[in-house]
Amino acid sequence: MRIDCHNHTVFSADGKQTVEELVKCAKARGVKYIAITEHMDLGFPNDARPADEPLFDYLVTQKYFDEIARVRKIYPDIEIVAGVEAGFTAGDEERISAALAAFPFEYVINSVHICHGLDCYWAGYFDGYTKETAYNEYLDCVRASLDAPYDYDAVGHLGYIGRASDFADRRLTYSEFADKSDDILSEIIRRNKILEVNSSVGKSDLNGALTIPDLSLLRRYRELGGRLINFGSDSHRTERFNHNYKEVTSALKELGFDEFTVKRNGKFETESID
Ligand SMILES: [Zn+2]
Ligand SMILES: [Zn+2]
Repeated sequence: MRIDCHNHTVFSADGKQTVEELVKCAKARGVKYIAITEHMDLGFPNDARPADEPLFDYLVTQKYFDEIARVRKIYPDIEIVAGVEAGFTAGDEERISAALAAFPFEYVINSVHICHGLDCYWAGYFDGYTKETAYNEYLDCVRASLDAPYDYDAVGHLGYIGRASDFADRRLTYSEFADKSDDILSEIIRRNKILEVNSSVGKSDLNGALTIPDLSLLRRYRELGGRLINFGSDSHRTERFNHNYKEVTSALKELGFDEFTVKRNGKFETESID
Protein backbone atom coordinates (compact mmCIF):
# COMPACT_ATOMS: atom_id res chain seq x y z
CA MET A 1 0.00 0.00 0.00
CA ARG A 2 1.26 3.45 -0.87
CA ILE A 3 1.14 5.70 2.19
CA ASP A 4 2.17 9.13 3.47
CA CYS A 5 2.03 9.66 7.23
CA HIS A 6 3.29 13.23 7.70
CA ASN A 7 1.54 16.17 6.02
CA HIS A 8 0.59 19.72 6.91
CA THR A 9 -2.33 21.76 5.61
CA VAL A 10 -3.52 25.30 6.23
CA PHE A 11 -4.31 24.24 9.80
CA SER A 12 -0.55 24.60 10.33
CA ALA A 13 0.98 28.08 10.39
CA ASP A 14 3.35 27.17 7.53
CA GLY A 15 0.98 24.88 5.58
CA LYS A 16 0.04 25.97 2.05
CA GLN A 17 -2.37 23.21 0.93
CA THR A 18 -5.97 22.65 1.97
CA VAL A 19 -7.13 19.26 3.22
CA GLU A 20 -9.11 18.77 0.03
CA GLU A 21 -6.16 19.69 -2.23
CA LEU A 22 -3.95 17.25 -0.34
CA VAL A 23 -6.40 14.35 -0.61
CA LYS A 24 -7.11 15.08 -4.26
CA CYS A 25 -3.35 14.90 -4.84
CA ALA A 26 -3.17 11.60 -2.93
CA LYS A 27 -5.86 10.12 -5.16
CA ALA A 28 -4.07 11.26 -8.30
CA ARG A 29 -0.80 9.67 -7.15
CA GLY A 30 -2.27 6.38 -5.96
CA VAL A 31 -1.66 7.03 -2.26
CA LYS A 32 -4.31 5.12 -0.32
CA TYR A 33 -3.47 6.10 3.23
CA ILE A 34 -2.55 9.57 4.44
CA ALA A 35 -2.08 11.05 7.88
CA ILE A 36 -2.54 14.77 8.31
CA THR A 37 -0.29 15.91 11.13
CA GLU A 38 -0.64 19.60 11.94
CA HIS A 39 1.93 21.42 14.02
CA MET A 40 1.35 21.71 17.73
CA ASP A 41 4.45 23.47 19.08
CA LEU A 42 3.24 24.95 22.32
CA GLY A 43 6.78 25.83 23.45
CA PHE A 44 7.69 27.52 20.18
CA PRO A 45 9.97 30.54 20.78
CA ASN A 46 8.03 33.00 18.63
CA ASP A 47 9.75 35.96 20.29
CA ALA A 48 13.15 34.71 19.12
CA ARG A 49 12.21 33.88 15.54
CA PRO A 50 13.95 35.48 12.54
CA ALA A 51 11.92 38.15 10.74
CA ASP A 52 11.07 35.91 7.80
CA GLU A 53 9.63 33.09 9.93
CA PRO A 54 5.85 32.84 10.50
CA LEU A 55 4.23 33.19 13.87
CA PHE A 56 3.79 29.63 15.04
CA ASP A 57 0.30 29.56 16.43
CA TYR A 58 -1.40 26.28 17.19
CA LEU A 59 -4.35 26.32 14.78
CA VAL A 60 -6.16 23.04 15.39
CA THR A 61 -9.77 23.43 16.51
CA GLN A 62 -12.91 21.39 15.97
CA LYS A 63 -12.94 22.87 12.44
CA TYR A 64 -9.95 20.67 11.58
CA PHE A 65 -11.86 17.49 12.41
CA ASP A 66 -15.00 18.77 10.70
CA GLU A 67 -13.06 19.52 7.53
CA ILE A 68 -11.45 16.07 7.49
CA ALA A 69 -14.90 14.49 8.00
CA ARG A 70 -16.22 16.51 5.04
CA VAL A 71 -13.36 15.49 2.74
CA ARG A 72 -13.66 11.83 3.77
CA LYS A 73 -17.13 11.82 2.26
CA ILE A 74 -15.79 13.10 -1.06
CA TYR A 75 -12.94 10.54 -1.15
CA PRO A 76 -14.29 7.43 0.62
CA ASP A 77 -11.64 5.19 -0.95
CA ILE A 78 -8.75 7.02 0.73
CA GLU A 79 -7.95 6.52 4.39
CA ILE A 80 -7.46 9.93 5.99
CA VAL A 81 -6.09 9.97 9.51
CA ALA A 82 -6.59 13.07 11.66
CA GLY A 83 -3.25 13.40 13.39
CA VAL A 84 -0.90 15.92 14.93
CA GLU A 85 2.83 16.61 15.12
CA ALA A 86 3.47 17.44 18.75
CA GLY A 87 6.69 19.41 19.14
CA PHE A 88 8.45 18.42 22.35
CA THR A 89 9.94 21.09 24.56
CA ALA A 90 11.11 20.21 28.05
CA GLY A 91 9.02 21.95 30.68
CA ASP A 92 5.87 22.10 28.53
CA GLU A 93 4.82 18.47 28.96
CA GLU A 94 1.68 19.23 30.98
CA ARG A 95 0.40 21.77 28.46
CA ILE A 96 1.12 19.41 25.59
CA SER A 97 -0.66 16.55 27.39
CA ALA A 98 -3.72 18.73 27.95
CA ALA A 99 -3.78 19.89 24.31
CA LEU A 100 -3.46 16.32 23.03
CA ALA A 101 -6.31 15.22 25.29
CA ALA A 102 -8.57 18.05 24.10
CA PHE A 103 -9.21 16.44 20.69
CA PRO A 104 -9.48 12.86 19.40
CA PHE A 105 -6.19 12.75 17.51
CA GLU A 106 -5.84 9.44 15.70
CA TYR A 107 -2.06 9.56 15.25
CA VAL A 108 0.59 11.51 17.12
CA ILE A 109 4.12 12.26 15.91
CA ASN A 110 6.56 13.20 18.65
CA SER A 111 9.05 15.64 17.09
CA VAL A 112 11.88 17.79 18.33
CA HIS A 113 12.26 21.19 16.64
CA ILE A 114 13.52 23.28 19.55
CA CYS A 115 16.72 22.96 21.57
CA HIS A 116 18.25 25.65 23.78
CA GLY A 117 15.25 27.85 23.09
CA LEU A 118 15.70 28.06 19.31
CA ASP A 119 14.47 26.10 16.29
CA CYS A 120 17.24 23.92 14.83
CA TYR A 121 15.96 25.10 11.44
CA TRP A 122 17.15 28.66 12.04
CA ALA A 123 20.63 29.60 10.87
CA GLY A 124 21.40 31.42 14.15
CA TYR A 125 20.85 28.20 16.03
CA PHE A 126 24.41 27.10 15.29
CA ASP A 127 26.25 30.28 16.29
CA GLY A 128 29.22 29.29 18.44
CA TYR A 129 28.56 25.57 18.08
CA THR A 130 30.68 22.81 16.60
CA LYS A 131 28.85 20.06 14.80
CA GLU A 132 29.72 17.67 17.62
CA THR A 133 28.28 19.94 20.30
CA ALA A 134 25.17 20.93 18.37
CA TYR A 135 24.26 17.42 17.23
CA ASN A 136 24.94 15.83 20.61
CA GLU A 137 22.70 18.42 22.23
CA TYR A 138 19.99 17.74 19.66
CA LEU A 139 20.24 14.00 20.34
CA ASP A 140 19.87 14.68 24.07
CA CYS A 141 16.67 16.63 23.30
CA VAL A 142 15.36 13.73 21.20
CA ARG A 143 16.23 11.27 23.96
CA ALA A 144 14.32 13.42 26.48
CA SER A 145 11.33 13.58 24.14
CA LEU A 146 11.01 9.79 24.19
CA ASP A 147 10.17 10.02 27.90
CA ALA A 148 7.28 12.45 27.26
CA PRO A 149 4.45 11.63 29.67
CA TYR A 150 1.82 11.71 26.91
CA ASP A 151 1.09 8.94 24.45
CA TYR A 152 2.56 9.15 20.98
CA ASP A 153 2.86 6.78 18.03
CA ALA A 154 5.93 7.79 16.06
CA VAL A 155 9.24 9.61 16.41
CA GLY A 156 9.42 12.30 13.74
CA HIS A 157 12.33 13.18 11.46
CA LEU A 158 15.29 12.01 13.56
CA GLY A 159 18.15 14.12 12.15
CA TYR A 160 16.09 17.28 11.63
CA ILE A 161 19.04 19.32 12.88
CA GLY A 162 20.89 18.67 9.63
CA ARG A 163 18.33 20.39 7.45
CA ALA A 164 19.63 23.90 8.10
CA SER A 165 23.10 23.56 9.55
CA ASP A 166 26.07 24.75 7.49
CA PHE A 167 28.69 22.19 8.49
CA ALA A 168 30.69 20.52 5.72
CA ASP A 169 28.75 17.29 6.23
CA ARG A 170 25.33 18.14 7.61
CA ARG A 171 24.09 14.57 7.98
CA LEU A 172 23.52 13.00 11.34
CA THR A 173 25.03 9.58 10.66
CA TYR A 174 25.28 6.51 12.82
CA SER A 175 29.07 6.22 12.77
CA GLU A 176 29.53 9.78 13.99
CA PHE A 177 27.04 9.56 16.86
CA ALA A 178 26.88 5.84 17.59
CA ASP A 179 26.38 5.80 21.37
CA LYS A 180 23.55 8.31 21.57
CA SER A 181 21.96 6.88 18.43
CA ASP A 182 22.00 3.38 19.92
CA ASP A 183 20.37 4.68 23.08
CA ILE A 184 17.60 6.44 21.12
CA LEU A 185 16.97 3.61 18.66
CA SER A 186 16.88 1.02 21.47
CA GLU A 187 14.42 3.13 23.42
CA ILE A 188 12.15 3.52 20.37
CA ILE A 189 12.17 -0.27 20.00
CA ARG A 190 11.60 -0.86 23.71
CA ARG A 191 8.63 1.50 23.69
CA ASN A 192 7.16 -0.04 20.52
CA LYS A 193 7.07 3.29 18.65
CA ILE A 194 7.28 3.87 14.91
CA LEU A 195 10.50 5.36 13.57
CA GLU A 196 9.31 7.75 10.87
CA VAL A 197 11.21 7.76 7.58
CA ASN A 198 10.92 11.38 6.48
CA SER A 199 11.68 12.29 2.87
CA SER A 200 11.62 16.06 3.27
CA VAL A 201 15.36 16.11 2.58
CA GLY A 202 15.84 15.86 -1.17
CA LYS A 203 18.88 14.35 -2.82
CA SER A 204 20.33 17.76 -3.53
CA ASP A 205 20.14 18.75 0.14
CA LEU A 206 21.93 17.40 3.19
CA ASN A 207 24.99 16.05 1.40
CA GLY A 208 23.03 13.61 -0.70
CA ALA A 209 21.01 12.09 2.13
CA LEU A 210 17.74 10.59 0.92
CA THR A 211 15.94 10.58 4.25
CA ILE A 212 15.98 11.63 7.85
CA PRO A 213 16.86 9.48 9.70
CA ASP A 214 19.93 8.85 7.58
CA LEU A 215 19.97 5.38 6.00
CA SER A 216 22.88 4.46 8.32
CA LEU A 217 20.56 5.00 11.30
CA LEU A 218 17.79 2.98 9.68
CA ARG A 219 20.26 0.15 9.03
CA ARG A 220 21.30 0.21 12.69
CA TYR A 221 17.67 0.34 13.86
CA ARG A 222 16.98 -2.83 11.92
CA GLU A 223 20.12 -4.51 13.30
CA LEU A 224 18.91 -3.74 16.82
CA GLY A 225 15.56 -5.39 16.01
CA GLY A 226 13.57 -2.32 14.97
CA ARG A 227 10.79 -3.13 12.53
CA LEU A 228 8.20 -0.36 12.94
CA ILE A 229 8.66 2.28 10.26
CA ASN A 230 6.43 4.41 8.06
CA PHE A 231 6.89 7.00 5.33
CA GLY A 232 6.23 10.72 5.68
CA SER A 233 6.92 13.38 3.09
CA ASP A 234 6.30 16.20 5.60
CA SER A 235 4.57 18.03 2.77
CA HIS A 236 3.37 21.58 3.32
CA ARG A 237 2.28 22.00 -0.33
CA THR A 238 1.09 19.50 -2.90
CA GLU A 239 4.30 19.74 -4.95
CA ARG A 240 6.18 17.99 -2.16
CA PHE A 241 3.51 15.44 -1.29
CA ASN A 242 4.85 11.85 -1.29
CA HIS A 243 8.23 13.23 -2.34
CA ASN A 244 10.78 10.61 -3.49
CA TYR A 245 8.48 7.75 -2.49
CA LYS A 246 9.91 5.28 -4.99
CA GLU A 247 13.55 6.08 -4.18
CA VAL A 248 12.92 5.87 -0.45
CA THR A 249 10.95 2.63 -0.57
CA SER A 250 13.53 0.93 -2.75
CA ALA A 251 16.27 2.01 -0.29
CA LEU A 252 14.19 0.62 2.58
CA LYS A 253 13.74 -2.69 0.79
CA GLU A 254 17.50 -2.89 0.26
CA LEU A 255 17.91 -2.53 4.01
CA GLY A 256 15.53 -5.47 4.48
CA PHE A 257 12.33 -3.64 5.42
CA ASP A 258 9.22 -5.00 3.70
CA GLU A 259 6.41 -3.58 5.83
CA PHE A 260 5.13 -0.21 6.94
CA THR A 261 3.28 0.18 10.22
CA VAL A 262 0.15 2.33 10.10
CA LYS A 263 -2.32 3.39 12.74
CA ARG A 264 -5.85 2.21 12.06
CA ASN A 265 -8.75 2.39 14.48
CA GLY A 266 -6.38 3.05 17.36
CA LYS A 267 -4.07 0.12 16.62
CA PHE A 268 -0.88 -0.53 14.71
CA GLU A 269 -1.30 -2.62 11.58
CA THR A 270 1.22 -3.56 8.93
CA GLU A 271 1.01 -2.99 5.21
CA SER A 272 3.47 -4.31 2.66
CA ILE A 273 5.69 -1.66 1.15
CA ASP A 274 4.77 -1.00 -2.45
ZN1 LIG B 1 8.62 18.66 12.19
ZN1 LIG C 1 6.08 18.30 9.97
